[in-house]
Amino acid sequence: MVTTTMETLSIRTENKFRTLITKQAYKKGEVICSMPSENIMDKPNRFTVQIARDKHTHVGKLAALNHSCDPNVVLDTEHMLMIARRDIEKGEELSFFYPATEWEMQAPFICLCGSANCTHVVAGARFLPLSTLETHYLNKHIREMMIELLNNTKHHLKDLQKA
Ligand SMILES: [Zn+2]
Repeated sequence: MVTTTMETLSIRTENKFRTLITKQAYKKGEVICSMPSENIMDKPNRFTVQIARDKHTHVGKLAALNHSCDPNVVLDTEHMLMIARRDIEKGEELSFFYPATEWEMQAPFICLCGSANCTHVVAGARFLPLSTLETHYLNKHIREMMIELLNNTKHHLKDLQKA
């Protein structure tokens, strides 16, 4: 069953820095809630999540989700669900890998998550090497845009060889 109320999630604010905390434990693969879609626009801003090539949406409470290079949830934008990536304990902060939904972010930043596989610069999937992206859950629109970028690169390389 899908919880849509998000009653199990609370936002903690400390020095204007917001974190999303779960009030209950989840098992890996469990659906935590559905993703709200409140306002769809064609350009990203720092509060939106990209759900398709030209679609960015406000996600209500989930806007408090921070980025991590070793996240505990994934946002599945095809089914509009937030899912536990691993077992999560009650009281844990929830985080997701921003480039899993974002192709090119409006407000890039330096990541200080401290995980062994930290990407350091978080600017969107198009700025990350495939070897990094491969280790993450990626949404369909990101996979498609990555394939397109690679195909274009191949064409450019061919043109260079001809010249
Ligand atoms: Zn990081």
